[in-house]
Amino acid sequence: MCALLAVALSASWFTSVGAEDLEVYPSPYVSRVTWLSEYNPNLAGTAGDTKVLMYEGDEPGGTLLVVGGTHGDEAAGPVAALVFAENAHVKRGRLIVIPYVNASGFTHNLPQEAHPREYRIPTPNGDRIMPYGARLSNPVHQWPDPTVYVEPIMRQKLAGSESRNLNRAYPGREKGPLTSMIAYAVMELIRRENVDVAIDMHESSPEYPTNNTIVAHDRAMDIAVMASMDLESQGIEINIEQSPQNLRGLSHREWGDHTNAYAFLLECPNPAQGRLRGRTNAQLVVSGKDPMYAKAAGSGRLYVPYSEEGISLSVRAGRHVASVMAISAAFSMVNPDREIAIEGIPSYAEIVNNGVGQYLAASKGQRPATRDVAEGTRP
Ligand SMILES: [Zn+2]
Repeated sequence: MCALLAVALSASWFTSVGAEDLEVYPSPYVSRVTWLSEYNPNLAGTAGDTKVLMYEGDEPGGTLLVVGGTHGDEAAGPVAALVFAENAHVKRGRLIVIPYVNASGFTHNLPQEAHPREYRIPTPNGDRIMPYGARLSNPVHQWPDPTVYVEPIMRQKLAGSESRNLNRAYPGREKGPLTSMIAYAVMELIRRENVDVAIDMHESSPEYPTNNTIVAHDRAMDIAVMASMDLESQGIEINIEQSPQNLRGLSHREWGDHTNAYAFLLECPNPAQGRLRGRTNAQLVVSGKDPMYAKAAGSGRLYVPYSEEGISLSVRAGRHVASVMAISAAFSMVNPDREIAIEGIPSYAEIVNNGVGQYLAASKGQRPATRDVAEGTRP
């Protein structure tokens, strides 16, 4: 009976969140809000459709694509994307932001991991309530899983559930399982919008070796090196890895191979995802403070510096925002004819000192009634 009740409750949660619940309050300088289905009409009306925000500069230049939410349990990705979406004023070139690229992944989570459904970021005008999702698309939207998932390029065999992992689905299929149709739409967007720089923002467990890292496609390595020097000069330690040739289906590999864009993936450490963590709740996602990880760091088991201070969401999102800005600046230096210049974006130090909520709008129901404002402007 208890089991039945649990199934019924989780099923209602599984289907209760839709793309329209994924909040974004674009800066006043947004030029167009569209949906990913513009680039693959087969996504229209599905749980894989999601908002795409475009910011046209005052002067022409290059195009930067910023993607969050490939994996719904990696909080810094969508939060950093929203800092861009809700603050950007593009002076030169163009910015395209997809805050929740796999919207289906935000409609469920992993209760057996004690993961919260949502977490709260305090802003000056009330809390921003963010969904905490899952790594894979919701099985309600893509089922059944094959016994074995055969990745499309090199025919590598992966666990069947990986067919719902957007970051194994590129370059995707125009018509097929939901996750592959999302991947196809992102590829089409990069091609049709002539994206020059495409950045996919993730998080991983602190014991994972690829962390505090820019992963760059072969063609993008020089830009990554320049960006890393810029970041180091701001006191942000960052590693660089070249995208492996033989790991297929990943954004940084397939975006770079199948389009003209310079492709990057960013990683930073989220203790709520790790195997060594202690008590797991929404607070852990936001504070990044876990005594078990502080202990593990003390015995040399982590690849990232970790103290009792933890690694807060402001630090993690701040790293991503600063990395995107540094990559964009490095690209512009090498390609002055396609310069990208974005104003209104806080620095790493500002995000860490003021808290990332300073740069986000409050959720609609959380704002004081008298100060509520129309969608599309910052409160
Ligand atoms: Zn990820």
